[in-house]
Amino acid sequence: MAVPKRRTSKKVKNQRRTHKKLHVPGMVECSNCGELTKPHHVCKACGNYDGKEVISN
Ligand SMILES: [Zn+2]
Repeated sequence: MAVPKRRTSKKVKNQRRTHKKLHVPGMVECSNCGELTKPHHVCKACGNYDGKEVISN
């Protein structure tokens, strides 16, 4: 039978049955400007995707 290697911390244990989320699901921060954008989509704020500027303003 599998035995846990580490004791679960109080923080992790108490987080288990909460519905608090650290970030909005289905949204990622743009690596260029930090704006929330959809993953695998060009950032609407700065027009960057994968570290390159796709849409020039
Ligand atoms: Zn951006």
